[in-house]
Amino acid sequence: MKDYYQILGVPKAATEAEIKTAFRKLAHQHHPDKAGGNNDKFKEINEAYQVLGNQEKRAQYDRFGSAYQNNAGGQGAGANGFGGFDFSQGGQGFNINMDDLGEMFGGFGDIFGFGGGRQQQRQQRGADLQTVVQLNFREAMFGCDKEVRLKKPTACSDCRGSGAQIGYEPETCTVCHGSGRVVKTQRTILGNMQVQTTCDHCGGQGKIITHPCPRCHGQGIVNEQTTLTVKIPAGIADGETMRVSGQGEASPRSGQAGDLYLQIRVGADDYFVREGYNLRVNVPISFSQAVLGAKIEIRTVDGPVDLKIPEGTISGKILILKNKGVPILNGHGRGDQLVEVEIKVPKSLNRQQKKVLEELKEQGL
Ligand SMILES: [Zn+2]
Ligand SMILES: [Zn+2]
Repeated sequence: MKDYYQILGVPKAATEAEIKTAFRKLAHQHHPDKAGGNNDKFKEINEAYQVLGNQEKRAQYDRFGSAYQNNAGGQGAGANGFGGFDFSQGGQGFNINMDDLGEMFGGFGDIFGFGGGRQQQRQQRGADLQTVVQLNFREAMFGCDKEVRLKKPTACSDCRGSGAQIGYEPETCTVCHGSGRVVKTQRTILGNMQVQTTCDHCGGQGKIITHPCPRCHGQGIVNEQTTLTVKIPAGIADGETMRVSGQGEASPRSGQAGDLYLQIRVGADDYFVREGYNLRVNVPISFSQAVLGAKIEIRTVDGPVDLKIPEGTISGKILILKNKGVPILNGHGRGDQLVEVEIKVPKSLNRQQKKVLEELKEQGL
């Protein structure tokens, strides 16, 4: 039971514009491609907006309140529970899509002895998959093409996912004539009801496979090792998630494939420390360089550059190399390189150095 108003953080009386604004803000905030994104939350927000953002669906949702349940595993996101839902008052009884009712009222279908048919959607979407992608510091910094290998249910290449042996097209179901649904008239306490339910003959597929493909045994999918090349954008950070749409599990019989979620892990560098889009480094300088100023060579990801140490620089001072940081993910420009200077104190001195320092001490330094 989900409260879509609560999910979008709007009052029940919210206007269409208010709902839209709330949705955009939350979707932006929780987008899985973003740092701190949350896929579950994102899906939930989308689901809520599919209903509240549509006048008709919202009215129906308001009427049935929290009894409305969405079938997230069904035909894509959205309020599929209302597909084909229609109270036509004409004639005797009314027309109800039993599968939808099953979803809306939980066990309601069972009271009347019909299966809800929730597991038998005609176009079942393949499951989403998740895998970890390990990147090194430079790959994440500048982006790369990364090979991702995974074993997953994939559309059978012999029958192209149809499940039928080559040369034998699937035949249209003679019971439901390809719709996957049959209408039955049932006597109930509410009177005669025309009930639309999943066709038993074809299992809701609308088609009968007379000669199953030998490779996939008519399933249309096989479990296969696959390699795909994913373009990793420059600037991606450790812990972020990337969605590759349509690269999840294939769906049986040419339905829509699920999505693949890549959990990004980025290895540490032994010199650069990433802080958001900035890179931080520690650079030792000598006492005389700190006092007199100097020009020193600094390593950056683009190669060495000269950095001016101003006269009288104190230990811990941070000097900034503009635009030498990490490229902004899906944006323009780069962060900076922050150079923290550290004044080295020599552990031992030779005779002459000691003499010079003694003289400085007499000068009050
Ligand atoms: Zn096959
Ligand atoms: Zn059928």
